[in-house]
Amino acid sequence: ETALLKSQKDKPTVTTDGTTIQLFANIANANEMEQAHDFGAEGSGLLRTELLFMNRDSLPTEDQQFEFYKAVALKAKGKPVVIRTLDIGGDKQLPYFNIPAEQNPFLGYRAIRICLDRPELFSSQLRAILRASAFGKLKIMFPMIANVQEIRAAKVILNQAIDELSNTGISFDRAIETGIMIEIPSAAVTADLLAKEVDFFSIGTNDLCQYTLAVDRMNEKISHLYDPYNPGVLRLIDNVIKQAHKNNIEVGMCGELASDPNATLLLMGMGLTEFSMSATSIPHIKNIIINNHMNLAHQIYRQVMAMDNSTLIAAYLKEITT
Ligand code: PEP
Ligand code: MG
Repeated sequence: ETALLKSQKDKPTVTTDGTTIQLFANIANANEMEQAHDFGAEGSGLLRTELLFMNRDSLPTEDQQFEFYKAVALKAKGKPVVIRTLDIGGDKQLPYFNIPAEQNPFLGYRAIRICLDRPELFSSQLRAILRASAFGKLKIMFPMIANVQEIRAAKVILNQAIDELSNTGISFDRAIETGIMIEIPSAAVTADLLAKEVDFFSIGTNDLCQYTLAVDRMNEKISHLYDPYNPGVLRLIDNVIKQAHKNNIEVGMCGELASDPNATLLLMGMGLTEFSMSATSIPHIKNIIINNHMNLAHQIYRQVMAMDNSTLIAAYLKEITT
């Protein structure tokens, strides 16, 4: 089976009715970008930059970051790579950062909140990404966005970095796209407002599920309550996709739900055409897509959105995909 799946790696990801879907890899470094090609990835929908900041005892310099992002850009061989700016805090701590212990780290000082509070740190990352954009098709993505003001504040700092580079004559991609993670319920509900500010959305179902259901994604005691099929979560995802389309911006998904084979057709029925997942999941998801018709996806979508609970939804999705 693995051989069959791998043999399909160079085939386009097109449904039996001719609808094109794009499959990207979630990566953490250049090496993973290189491996992703073997699984048929069309680029990366999520480069998690935290790992570059973790596993060391001081902040990486702008030059060190530049080399890291440049290596990824080169390994992508012209395919797009979405670089997510620093998403530390919550489950991801930096030993040299000395963030005081918090009562609720997942609701605390983290991700874009830290970056907006420490613009010098944010600028150096943005300048490094911009400089690397001369070597490939990079996009910039901000995590943990809750409202419009955060996007505008992040863009002010990004535009300053762009001006600084322009003034020093350093080359970079002036048309670089910017997007945001949709992983906080307020962002999902107000997707119509946020869509006016960015070029793309990427739905982070890991955090969206955690925050929507008030279920800590790390707490094993309540892991049975962590439920991406909850109708509340599904309605949020559906709204984000619809609002992105209405406002003519791109929308993808990079959370774990993107690699759930039972959810693939449902998400396609919602209108999702870009999925990003661990590279090893791509062949299996691709196999589902190329063997199905959008009529079935739309039918599954209508059925599921009419159901009132996730037990029913899970059973139905399991039955229909096997
Ligand atoms: C998510 O929240 O769905 C996501 C992709 O980001 P992370 O898992 O890194 O929080
Ligand atoms: Mg997240």
